Amino acid sequence: MKNRLDSRKEVVTLFFTNFKNYKIITKDSIDTPHNTNGVSKSGHDRAMMFMGNSGLTSYSEIPHELMHCLSLPHTFLKVGESGYYQFNYFNQGSTDNYMDYKNKAKHTYHAQWKVMHNSKFTLKQD
Ligand SMILES: [Zn+2]
Repeated sequence: MKNRLDSRKEVVTLFFTNFKNYKIITKDSIDTPHNTNGVSKSGHDRAMMFMGNSGLTSYSEIPHELMHCLSLPHTFLKVGESGYYQFNYFNQGSTDNYMDYKNKAKHTYHAQWKVMHNSKFTLKQD
């Protein structure tokens, strides 16, 4: 069985740094460490984990960022985000889904698997 691995350019790169993530207040001042332990953008090919942050829960936050790359949004709508996506039906922290915040991150929904399987980054067999 042949797959597209040889010819594919669509790969996700996950960067790990020992730096802490700081929130920039102005160009001349930096706030205390930001509580964002990882960053990525839905459907994009890069994610970064700030391993120097305290409170990092890598067992759930690394999959969370990679699932963003595979086009999954949060299960809730964040302040400042506009519009609802397919999965934004829940209040933040009210589920045990990997795409929620402040939870035990135990599962994903079947519909989320469908999105990830259709991602441009998912290896498909011919
Ligand atoms: Zn997220």
